[in-house]
Amino acid sequence: MAEKVIFHVDVNSAFLSWEASYRKQILGEEIDLRDIPSAIGGDIEKRKGVILAKSTSAKKYGIVTGEPIVAALRKCPGLTIVKPNFSVYVEYSNKLMTLLREYSPVVQQYSIDEAYIDMTGTEGLYGKPLDIAYKIKDRIYEELGFTVNIGISCNKLLAKMAGELEKPNLVHTLFPSEIEKKMWPLPVGELFFVGKATEKSLKLLGIRTIGELAKADVKLLKLHLKKQGEIIHQYANGVDASAVEEEQAPHKGYGNSMTIPYDVNSVESAYLVLLSLCETVGTRLRAAEVEASCLAVSIVDTFFERKSHQMVLPSSTAVTKELYKYSCKVFEELWDHKTPIRQLGVHTTKLEKESHHQFNLFETPKNKKNEKLDKAIDTIRNKYGEDAVMRAAFVGSKLDHMAGGISKEKKSSITTSKL
Ligand SMILES: [Mg+2]
Repeated sequence: MAEKVIFHVDVNSAFLSWEASYRKQILGEEIDLRDIPSAIGGDIEKRKGVILAKSTSAKKYGIVTGEPIVAALRKCPGLTIVKPNFSVYVEYSNKLMTLLREYSPVVQQYSIDEAYIDMTGTEGLYGKPLDIAYKIKDRIYEELGFTVNIGISCNKLLAKMAGELEKPNLVHTLFPSEIEKKMWPLPVGELFFVGKATEKSLKLLGIRTIGELAKADVKLLKLHLKKQGEIIHQYANGVDASAVEEEQAPHKGYGNSMTIPYDVNSVESAYLVLLSLCETVGTRLRAAEVEASCLAVSIVDTFFERKSHQMVLPSSTAVTKELYKYSCKVFEELWDHKTPIRQLGVHTTKLEKESHHQFNLFETPKNKKNEKLDKAIDTIRNKYGEDAVMRAAFVGSKLDHMAGGISKEKKSSITTSKL
C-alpha cells in the first residue's frame, strides 16, 4: 500500500488572527492587531477574565495565554485588549474548512482552528505534497486574510508535530526518516499528549527530550504512566495508526458545537455552554419553522476523545428551554464527571413542520408560554441584534450567550465582502 500523505493545518494565534482579519477586511480599520501588542480577552470591564490569544509583540512582553488580564496589563500597560467575537471566529473557521475540502474529500476538523487532510493519492492531481501545501497556505492568506502552519507526514501525529515545529506562516515535513533530526531533540513536553503532570513524571525518570522517551523502556513507562506511557512511547517513535476521519455527514437537522476557551470541569459550567448552544439551535429551528424530536449531545475532552449520546424527545420541540432541559439530561448520562471538556455540541434531528406538532399528554400550558416567550425574543433579536436580549445566567460569564450565533449584519458583511 502506498504511503499515506497527511496534512495538518493550524491557524496561527487563531482568535487574534481572525479578529485582526475581521477588523481590517470587514470593518476597514487601519491598525492591524497583529502588528501591535494586543490580545483577545474576556470581561475587560470587570477586570476579570483571561487572555485567550495574543499577538507576537504581546508575547515579547511575556504575556501568555490563560493568564489573568490584570496580570497581562501589568506586564504591558499599553496592551490593546479586545473582547472575543466568537460568531466571527466560527465564520472564519467554516470558511477555512470549506476551502480545505476543495483539496480532498477526507477532511477532519479537529478543533475550531485545526484540521487534518488526507492527501493520499492526490499527487497526480496537484503535484508534490510540499508544493501543494505552500499553495494552500498562501491561498488561505490571500483569500481569508490569516496565516496558517501546515505540517506534512504519513500519519496524523507526525503531521501535527510537523506543524508545531516553527511558527508562523510555515510549512514543515516530518517524515519517519526525519524524526531523529527534527523531533527527538525537542523537550518532551512538546510531544502531543504530554501535559504538565506527565512531563514532571518523565523528568523524575530522567527523561527530558522526545528522543529519550523514544528510547526509554516501555515497561518502565507503563509502570509509572499506565496506558498513556505506552501511547507516548509510540508517539515519540512516530507511530500513530489512527485515520483521518471525516466528520459524519450531518443528518438533516440543526446543531451547533463550541470549542470552549477554557476547560470545563463542572456540571454547572457545562450547563451554561449547553444553554448557549441551545439558544442558537432553538433560534435556528424556529427560524426554519420546524421542531426536532431527537437530540444529541457531543463531548470532546482534553484528551481529544470524542463521544456522543442521543435521546428521542417525548414530543417534538423548538423551545430553547426544552432543548436545554433534555441536553442537560443527555449530558449527565454522557459525561464521566471528571475529564475536563474542551468542546460541547448539541444536535437536533428528526425534524417536522411546526404545524404537524403532535400534542401529547405531557404538554403543559407552561410549554405554550415558553413558545410564546421564545417567539418574542426572536422578534426582538431580529430587530435589534442577537445581544439585545440575554438570559440572566450569562451576565458576567466569559461565554457568548449564543454560541456560534451569527447576527444578520455580521453575516452579510462577511459574505458580501471580497474575502
Ligand atoms: Mg492554532
